Parts: sequence; C-alpha cells; structure tokens
Amino acid sequence: MTTPADALHSPESATGSLRVDGARLWLSLMELAKVGATPKGGVRRLALTDLDGQGRDLVVGWLRTTGSRIEIDGAGNIFATRPGRDPAARVVLTGSHIDTQPSGGKFDGNYGVLAGLEVLRTLNDAGIVTDNPVGVAIWTNEEGSRFVPVMGGSGAFAGVYTLEHVRQQRDIDGIAFGDALEAIGYAGPTPVGGRALDAYFEAHIEQGPVLEREDKIVGVVTGALGLRWYDCIWTGQDAHAGPTPMEARRDALRGASRMVEAIHALAVRHAPDGRATVGFMQVSPNSRNVVPGRVKMTVDMRHPDDGQLARMNRELGDAAAAIARDLGLECDLQQVDHVPASRFDSSCVDAVRGATHALGYPHREMVSGAGHDAIYIARVAPTSMIFVPCKDGISHNEIEDARPEHLEAGANVLLHAILARALRSSAATDPSGAKYG
Ligand SMILES: [Zn+2]
Repeated sequence: MTTPADALHSPESATGSLRVDGARLWLSLMELAKVGATPKGGVRRLALTDLDGQGRDLVVGWLRTTGSRIEIDGAGNIFATRPGRDPAARVVLTGSHIDTQPSGGKFDGNYGVLAGLEVLRTLNDAGIVTDNPVGVAIWTNEEGSRFVPVMGGSGAFAGVYTLEHVRQQRDIDGIAFGDALEAIGYAGPTPVGGRALDAYFEAHIEQGPVLEREDKIVGVVTGALGLRWYDCIWTGQDAHAGPTPMEARRDALRGASRMVEAIHALAVRHAPDGRATVGFMQVSPNSRNVVPGRVKMTVDMRHPDDGQLARMNRELGDAAAAIARDLGLECDLQQVDHVPASRFDSSCVDAVRGATHALGYPHREMVSGAGHDAIYIARVAPTSMIFVPCKDGISHNEIEDARPEHLEAGANVLLHAILARALRSSAATDPSGAKYG
C-alpha cells in the first residue's frame, strides 16, 4: 500500500514535488484584507454586511477563474467544485470562513479559504486531474458576532440547526439573518446539507501560542476539546460594610473568589489538557460600602477527553458545595451548554500527518481549543485540520499576524493531504499537459 509519505518521496511520483505558490497566497490574503480594513491593520467584516458581500464577490470571482463550478446554498454557504475524473466520486472539500470579529485580523478563517483557492490554482498550473472532485467552501457566519449561533452556516450544513432557525436570528438592530443574506445576494437555491463528502480538511491559524513557543510550523490536529458551560449564582446577604462584623457576614463575592481559585486548581490537576475559565462576573449590589449579597459568574471548562471532562464536572460541583458550606452561602450551579469532545477521523489525520512528514516540516499533534467549522463538518464527514503558528498566539484582534512561509507550509500540507484522498490512480498528471479549466 502506498502511504501519502511514500507518494511524496517516490521519485516517479508526478505530484510529490508539487508545491503551492506562497507569494500568490500571500497577495490574495492581503487583497482580501483590504475589504473592511481597519486603521490598526486588522479587518472588520461582520457576517452578511455589505463588506461581507464585497469580500464574497472578490473570492467567488477568484474561484470562478479556476474553472470551478460555484453553488450557493440557502444559508449562504458557498461551494466551488473543481471536477475530477470519476463523476461518481465524492468531493474532497476544504475551506473555512471569511467573516471576521468586529476587530478581527487578516488570517482567521480567510487563510483556510484562500489556502483552498491556492490548492485549486496549483492543481490547474500543474495540469493535474484528480479522481475525486476537489472543492472549496466558504461557511457563513462562523464568528457569531453579529448573529448567533456561532458557526451557523456549517452548523446548518451538518444538521445541528435548521435553516429556518438560522434565518430567523436577529442582530442587535433587529435585522434578520435571512433578510441580511438576501440583501447581499447570497441566499442561494442549493439545498443546505445532504452533500456527501469524501473528506473535509480545514487549514487555520492556531489562535494559541503552542506552535510558536515550540518552534513548530505545522499542527496536526487530532480533535477538538469538549466543552461545558455553567452559570453559577452565589447568594449571601447584603450588609453594611461598617457596622457588620467580619464573622457575621455572608459575602457572596468571597464564595465567587474562592471558586475562581478552585477552578484554576481543578484545571491544573487535569493538566496539560484541562481548561477552566471564569470570564464573566456580576456583583450585586456592586456598591463600595455594601457586603455583596449576590454574585453571578460563568464557568467555561474544556478537555479533549469526555471522561476527564465529566470528572472535572463532578469536581466543580464538589468544590462549589464545599465553599458554600464553609462560608454559609447558597450556590446555584447550572450547566447551560455541553459540546462533547470531537476526535477527528483517523484516516484524515493520517493524510495530514503523512503530508507533513513527507514535506519535512517541524510539527506536533494537537487538539483545537477553539470552535471551528470543521468541528460541525466532522459530524457528517471524515474531517481533520491543519494549524499554523500565529504571532504571540494572538487572534480575534487587529494585531493578529502570521508569517508568509508558515502559511505557505500549511497550504502545502493541505495540498498533499487533499491529493492523498483525491488522487488514487497512478496516472497523476494529464499527459497532454493542458491546463485545467
Ligand atoms: Zn476562524
């Protein structure tokens, strides 16, 4: 059996020496970043705004010039398909999103889409006819900053949400998703979902510091962290800050404060993969000279292993109960969301790992701590992801930055992972040498 690595190394392989054009990829990234560019060097291109429409027009235009067929579904998801030799074969799909956070960067999402475009351009330049079709998807509203739910387009595609549910969501000005989608001309006729995929690969900046810290260029992503979200309300008693002796207080903020430390220690006990965060706290009455009688806080816990995450869940409940008992408080802890850990398809992970080995890039295996379209697509198709470093691990920020050579390396891994799935026969190259499309 030929592994992707063998295929790349073998001297008679027509595709082993194939590489993307890193400069062309970089130019496309910089061109797209002009649409909604911010003074600090970032991008503000919220889902389904006029700017999102302009960004879509630009990228769809590029995809059309590759000779790909363009389809748009009812959620505004865009699919560009470059036909393969076998008309019955399922598409090998890649992609990501081009909507951004309100003060977002040039690379989050945009990189995955434009790396896919660069793969199509590279296949065309080399005159390669694949067995399976190769496609690029642009998923609608991944960021979830203008409309919830987050990852709405890929979620609808995967059947997590109905199209009606997604279309009805309103932004803060009361504008419905469906109306905004129609206004930019991207409510397409293609049914949402039901598209059989051979595989889905998504290239993305890491959005964390691990690759950069370890001097690695590629992250072979094996899955994504499971997540549990909680609302937690501490109730004690409001009291005057002066006359109330210390031993007579029922200070809800002390309970919350101990909880912050307790969940940090809890996550550290589940190192290196456990995560626990308190990102929101509301103190009542929030007055300088009143002992706080009520605190509302959130807890976000993550782990790649659902069994470990369930253990963290039990430890969280135990910690809350012990603190409440000790301080004479009431603690109402409610789980409000639970997304199980996802383990990416082993054959897709193998394709990414094989390509990375063959290309010789320093790499490590890792799990995604953030949400991505790939996590929903993994529910309906064999999936994996490729991470590349971003500067200081910073994302969702205008200063988000990445090195051209790292982006090029990730796109090369994407190219060869796709070829490992889409090119099964020996006749790799169109003998005529004719350019495709
Ligand atoms: Zn993203």
